[in-house]
Amino acid sequence: MRTHAVAIVGSGPSGFYAAGALLDSEDPPVRVDMYDRLATPWGLVRAGVAPDHPKIKSVSNQYEKIAARPGFRFFGHVHIGEDVTVDELLDRYDAVIYAVGSQTERRLGIEGEDRPGSLASVDFVGWYNGHPDYVDLDPDLSADRAVVIGAGNVALDVARMLLLGEADLRATDTADHAIEGFVGSAVREVVVCGRRGPVEAAFTTTELRELDDIEGLTTVVDPAQIPSADGDAELAKGTRRNVEILRGWAERGPDPDAARRMEFRFLRSPLRLLGDGEDGPVTGVELAVNRLETSDDGRVRPVDTGERETVECGLVFRAVGYKGMALPGVPFDEGSGTIPHTEGRIEGREREYVVGWIKRGPTGIIGTNRKDANETVRGLLADLATGARDGASVASAEEVEEWLSGRCSDLVDLDGWEAIDAHERAAGEPGGRPRVKVVDRAAFMDLVRPT
Ligand code: NAP
Repeated sequence: MRTHAVAIVGSGPSGFYAAGALLDSEDPPVRVDMYDRLATPWGLVRAGVAPDHPKIKSVSNQYEKIAARPGFRFFGHVHIGEDVTVDELLDRYDAVIYAVGSQTERRLGIEGEDRPGSLASVDFVGWYNGHPDYVDLDPDLSADRAVVIGAGNVALDVARMLLLGEADLRATDTADHAIEGFVGSAVREVVVCGRRGPVEAAFTTTELRELDDIEGLTTVVDPAQIPSADGDAELAKGTRRNVEILRGWAERGPDPDAARRMEFRFLRSPLRLLGDGEDGPVTGVELAVNRLETSDDGRVRPVDTGERETVECGLVFRAVGYKGMALPGVPFDEGSGTIPHTEGRIEGREREYVVGWIKRGPTGIIGTNRKDANETVRGLLADLATGARDGASVASAEEVEEWLSGRCSDLVDLDGWEAIDAHERAAGEPGGRPRVKVVDRAAFMDLVRPT
């Protein structure tokens, strides 16, 4: 049987799990070309997962194994929708899978949201992780107190990175520009605000528990905000553990000698960011104090009590979730920020599929993407097996390479990425760091095409 050709747009976890599942197929055999607009693969594993979480980042070992398999190719610095259209891909492959993730932020929609000092966590996370789009963010970290809006794992990542001690920070692959930024930072206190209660918070237990291990950090929780232990038995396991940890911190009280504080404040919604005039820097956040109400559908909703509270701060980080962006020429649902599909088959399309956050929205941990990608690939392989959806004029591997070389002046193939990877790891060795990240397009190309 002929080897079928599939293009995957995006090289994060969902793209790699899809690639692995496709390469497992023997009948029909499949080859995979994976595209990324960056020079480097791995998506959020490189540019999203916090640098002080090397164990989570080590999932990239699995992706390296997939990339080493026969039939896999990587093409970096190819921006689908700009350098190349989706129609051009469909002309050259039997099928195309979109694995582009959720690349932007959900907005708060409140007054003062765009004041200087108010930052989207998407941008800040990209900055400290060396994502080329955000290296110039240069956040002003001269305030001593920051507020993080949101009670999810991204909020915790941002709060933790702001409060990490220098020695902890220098052992990571945090981008060098961000290490210097953090070392010079004046931030000593971060207030994490959740609009609902501890029970409804979206943190995972491991992420909460690890705060106890951070040198010089004390966690602060108002005991009045923690439900009594009587109700613990009714909580789901993860939620119960979260509540137990928060209760432990509330009962213990803050360590007055700690150099840095992370405070959790629940039942608070941001109403507006305060500052001088219309566009003066952030000086504080006005918060609504909420109570909780259970709707008919069982969802616990925050309801404004009318009471107000102000937290003075010079920085606000918005960490209320990510949002997908439309890809030119591909259906898109603005409301959910996802591509409409049925079990991964894009609605109204014949040979186009979707995986990951752009399929189901920005939820779940990295491993969630494996099951998600397997579902899509099952459907895709079933469609290929019928033959009815074969591409009419699939290009050979050589023809694709020739086409791309003519179109993209800074093309990075798998060998190119491996040269970047080897350089970064070697640069990290003397300092005991996993790698020192290259963040600049020209510097990537110097490694890909040494003179
Ligand atoms: P998330 O888990 O959906 O959390 C978003 C938080 O923002 C929720 O607390 C939500 O509260 C709150 N929120 C939403 N709209 C708000 C508004 N208008 N005002 C105030 N608060 C608002 O999203 P995330 O933190 O961006 O994480 C995305 C996914 O990546 C999650 O599945 C997460 O677990 C995963 N992740 C995992 C790790 C890790 O494993 N270490 C690290 C980072 C991210 P409500 O619940 O009330 O809506």
